[in-house]
Amino acid sequence: MQYRLYGKLGYQVSALGMGCMRLPRIYKPGQDHAEVDLEKSFELIRYAVEHGVNYFDSAYAYHNKTSESILGEALDNGYRKKVKIATKQPFAVMKTQANIRRNLENTLRKLRTDYIDVYLIHNVQKESWDEIKQRRIIEEFEKFRDEGMIKAIGFSYHGSFPCFKEILDYYPWDMCQIQQNMLDVDREATEEAIKAAGRKKTALVIMEPLRGGGLSNAPESVRSLYDSYPEKRTPAEWAFRHVINYPEVSCILSGMTTMEQLKQNIELFSRPDAVPDCLSEEEKEIIQKAKAAYESVASIPCTGCEYCLPCPKGVHIPGVFFGFNAGTMFGDFSQPKRSYMFTKRFKQDASQCVACGACEKKCPQHIDIINQLKVAHASLDGWIE
Ligand code: SF4
Ligand code: SF4
Repeated sequence: MQYRLYGKLGYQVSALGMGCMRLPRIYKPGQDHAEVDLEKSFELIRYAVEHGVNYFDSAYAYHNKTSESILGEALDNGYRKKVKIATKQPFAVMKTQANIRRNLENTLRKLRTDYIDVYLIHNVQKESWDEIKQRRIIEEFEKFRDEGMIKAIGFSYHGSFPCFKEILDYYPWDMCQIQQNMLDVDREATEEAIKAAGRKKTALVIMEPLRGGGLSNAPESVRSLYDSYPEKRTPAEWAFRHVINYPEVSCILSGMTTMEQLKQNIELFSRPDAVPDCLSEEEKEIIQKAKAAYESVASIPCTGCEYCLPCPKGVHIPGVFFGFNAGTMFGDFSQPKRSYMFTKRFKQDASQCVACGACEKKCPQHIDIINQLKVAHASLDGWIE
C-alpha cells in the first residue's frame, strides 16, 4: 500500500481510504429499505485493515445511521488502534450546542472508541455556512478537541470553488474533503480546490473518485481511447490514476461493496507507480479526451448554468438533469437513483414541477425542461435505501 502525508498533522495514511457509505446490503422483499450485510461488511473492513488500509470514513447519516456502529463493531478486537477514523456530523442535527455534544457522544459509543481522529462538519453548504459561523460550531468542535474526544477538525464540501475558498480561508482546518474525479476537474469545488488546500498544507481527502462508481464503466468511445495506450487498464484504473496524480491529495476514498473491488483497489494503490505525478503528458491527454467523450454521451444538453433557478416549486433542475446524464453516460443508474432519493427527501425532485414554464424561458440551451424532467424522473425514481 502506498502511504501519504496527512497534511500538517504529519502522519501517514493509506492512499486508499475506505468509505463506509456503500457497504454491501441485503434486500428483503416487502421492506422499504435495504439492510447492511453485516457479515460481508465486517469481512471487507477487516480485510482492508489487514492489507494496509488505515483510513476509514463514515458519517452520522450513512446507511440509515448504522454505518458508524457497523464500523465500530468491525474494528473491535484490536483493529481500532491500527487505523484513523474520520466521521461527520451534519449541520441539520446540530439543533443546540448540547445536541452537538450528545451527537458526538453517541457517535463515540457507536464507534466503540474514546476518540475520533478526524471530526468533520458534514456537507457544509453556501446556505448553511453563515449560520455555522454565527452558531460558533467550529468553537464547539475545538472544545471537543481540547477534551480529547476528537483529534482534528475538518469539513466536507460539495459546492462551487468560491464558497469552498471562503470556508478554507476562514479557519486553519486540519483537513477538508471534496468531490473530485476526471469529470469534475471544472465542476463542484474544481481542481482549484486541490491546489488551494495544498498551498495551506490542509490534509485533502477526495471522495467520489469514480463519480459514484460510474467511471468504472465506459462507453465504446472512451474504451477505444483507453485501448490506444500500450498498457491495458480498466476504466476504473484510469479514473483512479487521475486523482492519484495530484501531490496535494492525502487520501482517496472508495466506497467498496465487494471483496473483488477491494482486492483490485488494494492492488492498484500498492503499485510502485501509484504515486503523485504518475501521469505522463500522453496519459493526461487521453484522460482529457475521455472526459470529452463521456460528456458527449450525456443526452440532456444542460450546462449547469442555473439560469433556470430558482424554480417556484423548488425543483433543482440542473441537479435532476445531472443525475440523468450521469446514468446515461455510465450506462448505470444505480448511483444517480440513490442521489435522487435525497433530492426527493428535500422536495427538489421533478415530481414537484407544476409545468408553469418559467424556467424554459430562461434556459440559454432552449431545453424543453418540463418534458425532460418527466423523462429524467422516470429513470431516476424508485431507489430503495
Ligand atoms: S416548469 Fe416546473 S421546473 Fe420549471 S419553474 Fe415551473 S415548476 Fe419549476
Ligand atoms: S438554464 Fe438550462 S442549461 Fe442552465 S441549468 Fe437550467 S436547464 Fe441547465
